[in-house]
Amino acid sequence: MANFLDNSIRFLKGVGDSRALLLQKELGISTMRDLLWYFPFRHIDRSRYYKVGEIRDESAAYIQLQVRIEGVSVQGAGPKARLTAVARDETGVVELAWFRGIKWMAKRLEAGRRYVVFGRPGFFNGRLQMVHPEIEAVGTARERPSGMQGIYSTTEALSSARLGTRGIYDLVCNLWEVAKDHITETIPGRIMSEYNLIPLCEALENIHFPKNQELLAAARYRLKFEELFGLHLGIVSRRQGRIEKSNGFMFNRVGDRFNEFYSGHLPFELTGAQKRVIKEIRADTVTGHQMNRLLQGDVGSGKTLVALMSMLLAADNGFQSCMMAPTEILARQHYATIVNLLGEMDVRTAVLTGSTRAKERNDILEKLEAGQIDILLGTHALIEERVRFANLGFVVIDEQHRFGVEQRARLWTKNHNPPHVLVMTATPIPRTLAMTLYGDLDVSVIDELPPGRKPVKTMHLRDSQRLRIYGFLAEQIELGRQIYIVYPLIGGSEKTDYKDLQDGFEGISRQFPPPRYFTTVVHGRMKAADKEANMKLFKEGTANIMVSTTVIEVGVDVPNATVMVIESAERFGLSQLHQLRGRVGRGGGQSYCILMSGDKLSADARARLAAMVRTGDGFELSELDLKLRGAGDLAGTQQSGLALELKISNLGKDSAIVELCRTAAQKIFDGGYGFDPREIELLEELRSRHMTSTEGDFSMIS
Ligand code: ADP
Ligand code: MG
Repeated sequence: MANFLDNSIRFLKGVGDSRALLLQKELGISTMRDLLWYFPFRHIDRSRYYKVGEIRDESAAYIQLQVRIEGVSVQGAGPKARLTAVARDETGVVELAWFRGIKWMAKRLEAGRRYVVFGRPGFFNGRLQMVHPEIEAVGTARERPSGMQGIYSTTEALSSARLGTRGIYDLVCNLWEVAKDHITETIPGRIMSEYNLIPLCEALENIHFPKNQELLAAARYRLKFEELFGLHLGIVSRRQGRIEKSNGFMFNRVGDRFNEFYSGHLPFELTGAQKRVIKEIRADTVTGHQMNRLLQGDVGSGKTLVALMSMLLAADNGFQSCMMAPTEILARQHYATIVNLLGEMDVRTAVLTGSTRAKERNDILEKLEAGQIDILLGTHALIEERVRFANLGFVVIDEQHRFGVEQRARLWTKNHNPPHVLVMTATPIPRTLAMTLYGDLDVSVIDELPPGRKPVKTMHLRDSQRLRIYGFLAEQIELGRQIYIVYPLIGGSEKTDYKDLQDGFEGISRQFPPPRYFTTVVHGRMKAADKEANMKLFKEGTANIMVSTTVIEVGVDVPNATVMVIESAERFGLSQLHQLRGRVGRGGGQSYCILMSGDKLSADARARLAAMVRTGDGFELSELDLKLRGAGDLAGTQQSGLALELKISNLGKDSAIVELCRTAAQKIFDGGYGFDPREIELLEELRSRHMTSTEGDFSMIS
């Protein structure tokens, strides 16, 4: 149904062709609706006027002043020109400066006149200054319904076209006049009252022009709910579609191989968490629906064993399995581990990677198609066209965040009926994020490490305390332990990073001179052969210390290494710090992680390092990471295939709303509301608006 809001923004008063183009290019706003859903990122209290004398420091906040302009002047010419106005109130002087739109602005400034000035104060050469403030002569300001005004984010190009935050606000005012009668409710009344949502029209009005704090809060809540609810309707419908339509293989039997392995080959008792997950997988594979399960478990929690036992279950039921890992090292490591665990058992196992020789490859491919291989390990090589199975029933994907959605999906098509799928990750994802990113998956968690692991002792030291660590490192080396020292590698300044690493390497070599000590180095600029040779020196224990960038790969496993020193730790994200720390603490000895940082730290960096010292729990760290960084940067969000273009919600901060929306969406599919067709139409529209790609539909709601 055509709606007024779908009209081009070009037709709005104050826009026109060139601004419409700019709005589209800079902010992706092309329709009236887009602008109406372009929300202020904050609101400031404009009922309050500050005094110049009150402004103490570079507070980031926007403030409002009432000042008299004393003089206006233009310095410089051409692109370097700048317009300044000296203004004061009874408590002090402030300098107002413009670098763009000088002519236009100069005409509006008049010495001796009083103005309302609004902007972000700062200090420049000790003088209080406001750059590109909004300014209006006293008495001409547009009437506002409340003291609160929205601040819209904008860009340089837009500001130059007089679409700064104020310009956008003016457009929204124009829009509201013509749009307010065309807003139709999107959420069925019963859900609105169950979750205390205000009507959409009221929410939109109050997000742009809040009448008071309470209504602003209610508006935010309603709009966040709407966004997340729309998203989860899509996710639940997709999941439902998979469950209803798929014809999952039945693994009815717990047969010889599973039992033989369990009673005769398991080198240790399964942890409670491992048992629970295996039970969950068993339950999934006898429902007649296809399993699609995400298994999260910290580094070292024993996911491989769960994967292996699931694959044995498949074999017992006459199905083949495969397990795909992101690197060759890892795939071969899995193969070695599994062959070793299985021992004499009658399970035919093979490994296939990019470097498998042609003859061996052909042999594997033949046997696979003839049903003579039960478990195939490998890398991306597994998804190639020529890899055909006789009867693939179970697929495991290790370190799933390293694969794209498409690569994962291609394994599904290796049988006429999609196999059961288990994706595993050691990068913990907070629950509500997992619900959104992988919402059509079921989630299992291994939240328990095998017994006997000692937590890694973690400390944080400043550069000025550096000397203290050398003695400690020497002690550890005396005990026969090995040490990693890792330097950050941040794209863009590769040269300085490389220099840091070189300096560090030389410094360490001086502190720990040969022949008594041996330090080796590995970084991305080395030839592969040199890298490998140096890696080997460390692996074999010849080198005591390895200085490296973060290139130390997933596969590197040196149980004798007990100390991880991370240089410039403030430059790493939390999940990366946690992954690096996971390289130690693998053997029996007490392990240590030392975070070195500069003396001056941002509040965020301090919070990250303090969290690392406080806890070794990957889930707790990932929750915090999400809070500090927002969802956009987290591992997995980019590859998720879900366009996470949330306009108002934040998956980290709004986890409570995510839970509510998921519950409501699920209840709809379970028939809990018994909606009539008109209400279902509403929901369908909401779902399609918030979900860019989904195969789901609402046909199964009764
Ligand atoms: P990840 O979850 O990181 O893939 P792995 O599966 O590689 O972890 O297991 C890490 C180590 O823990 C392996 O050496 C494995 O043999 C061992 N392990 C796994 N499960 C147990 C258990 N229940 N008890 C003791 N050790 C275990
Ligand atoms: Mg693993």
